[in-house]
Amino acid sequence: MLSRDDGYVAARRRLVQRLLESGVRDPRVLAAFGEVPRHLMVPEALRTESYKQAALPIGDGQTISAPAVVAAMTEALELQGTERVLEVGTGSGYQAAVLSRLAASVVSIERVGRLAARARSALDALGVSNVVVYLGDGTLGRAASAPYDAIVVTAGGPTIPQPLLDQLAPGGRLVGPFGTREEQALVRVRRTAGGALERETLGRCRFVDLIGAHGWAA
Ligand code: SAH
Repeated sequence: MLSRDDGYVAARRRLVQRLLESGVRDPRVLAAFGEVPRHLMVPEALRTESYKQAALPIGDGQTISAPAVVAAMTEALELQGTERVLEVGTGSGYQAAVLSRLAASVVSIERVGRLAARARSALDALGVSNVVVYLGDGTLGRAASAPYDAIVVTAGGPTIPQPLLDQLAPGGRLVGPFGTREEQALVRVRRTAGGALERETLGRCRFVDLIGAHGWAA
């Protein structure tokens, strides 16, 4: 990660305080939010806005979710540091950078070429070396590096893509928003050691569309 004295140390400290107030408890997750320079993951014109509790446009009609949403989803993955993680929807690369601090490795898939390229160079600038960004349809997952101990879907789809469930390791957790285009339930699915799937709803939310073979039509 870049030098911590980047002019945004206090902004990150306030962000962590607000996440704590909003109910985020995992100390590793809070530490990651205190470290990752969110202002370097958004378009330059939005830098000064980047630590606010808001979603921000990142180009191509897509948004980087509000920090509290990224934090809640990340915490729900229950990462210990040893996991192989799959992220569907790289977007800005911000969540991938957060995940890189909390897991062993991250495979992130983005369907928009320009976003994938920008995220890759932003992650490189941060010195993040355990995230691989692929261009493609993330609803298919990436069988070549499966199974995953944790899968996070950062765009809203009609149903949980079957390939992602197939690529979830025993004991693994999948978190993502599923429902209609207007509103989704934030869902966590856990694959038990025996292979069964347990599903729970964590809250209501609204994400940009998950577009692909197991998502919405483009
Ligand atoms: N995690 C991102 C959030 C990005 S918003 C961040 O931290 O910035 C969701 C992203 O999912 C968008 O960039 C969108 O282009 C992408 N997306 C939508 N459908 C997809 C699919 N089938 N495969 C991969 N990416 C997809």
